[in-house]
Amino acid sequence: MPEEAGGLADLGALPLTTKDELRATVTPENPVGAHLCAAREEIVRIYSTSGTTGAPSYIPLTAGDLDNWVTGSARSYAASGIRRGQHIVSTYNAGPFVAGAALGSFDRLGLTHIPVGTGNTERLVKAIGALRPEAAVLTPSYAAYLAENFDLRESSVERVLVAGEPGGGEPAFRATLEEGWGAKVTEAMGIGDIGVSLWGECEEQDGMHLGARGFVHAELIEPETGAARELQDGAEGELVLTHLRHRAAPLFRFRTRDHVVVRTSPCPCGRTGPRIRCVGRTDDMLIVRGVNVFPAAVREVVSAFAPAVSGNILVKPGAPGVKQEPPLPVAVELARDASLDQSLAAAIADRLREILVVRARVELVPWGTLRRSEYKSQLVERDA
Ligand SMILES: [Zn+2]
Repeated sequence: MPEEAGGLADLGALPLTTKDELRATVTPENPVGAHLCAAREEIVRIYSTSGTTGAPSYIPLTAGDLDNWVTGSARSYAASGIRRGQHIVSTYNAGPFVAGAALGSFDRLGLTHIPVGTGNTERLVKAIGALRPEAAVLTPSYAAYLAENFDLRESSVERVLVAGEPGGGEPAFRATLEEGWGAKVTEAMGIGDIGVSLWGECEEQDGMHLGARGFVHAELIEPETGAARELQDGAEGELVLTHLRHRAAPLFRFRTRDHVVVRTSPCPCGRTGPRIRCVGRTDDMLIVRGVNVFPAAVREVVSAFAPAVSGNILVKPGAPGVKQEPPLPVAVELARDASLDQSLAAAIADRLREILVVRARVELVPWGTLRRSEYKSQLVERDA
């Protein structure tokens, strides 16, 4: 009985689950892993994760699980202020990935959904012009790429809903997106093994509310030791999630590798419960002489130098692994018409030291040097 185990308040005393542990239990007979709990004929869908950190893994769902995913996702997207009768253009491929389940939530909300898919910018821009959607859903990288290459300020899009990678909630980066689109930007976030768009930001733009409340329980841990941290205002740490109703492949205290900051102060929108902002993936984190540095946080500091910079950066760690010696090499791309100004490099390095407490070697590179992405940006590059 759950009561005998102590309930949710005592979860912190129990072991964590990692992605590697799940992978280790995969066998030819059981391609999902030991956490598979439903009979084969009960499963209505099997998604795959994109396998950015290894072989793809399979995410099975029962009909009830899928319905819960869509409900949570619908709540998260509804928080953005989008409403019944509006048109939304999406740039996710339904395909094999869990993002496909988020698309089901648009029907649930009574939106007119215009799927355009990934990697077809011309088709997307045409659809926006012809069908005049009020909203667009895409990754923050792609939103930035489009704003850089097209004039969207006069387009019909009033709301840009970003998801799929961290960054959409960083104030300076978000301001650039909002300026480029002439639209309000809110973000959403999920994680394949637990659920799609679990979290969604409201119009207050002060962190993402847990749309999957009641389906998923959230905790915070100290990433190095795994020790539980109180979910209180301003707390920071790795997000750990537990399924409350999932049946096909339920997970208990799953380490998401997402590093978040928690807000618990009352939100003017009226939604209760904590909200979060994702600072970065624990996997992307570098430790520069004892200081944790997330590449997305570097981009945020650099973005504040717009319009002199394009907002594209690339961190180039000098040593393999997480631990780095200063100065940390950072390439910063200049804006389209900016000329090379060495005092700018020094000013950026000063600001990085001031805000992130990291000594960086800033190299300014001409506009167009750093690779753009139509999906997720790579902010770190290591020598092969
Ligand atoms: Zn709110």
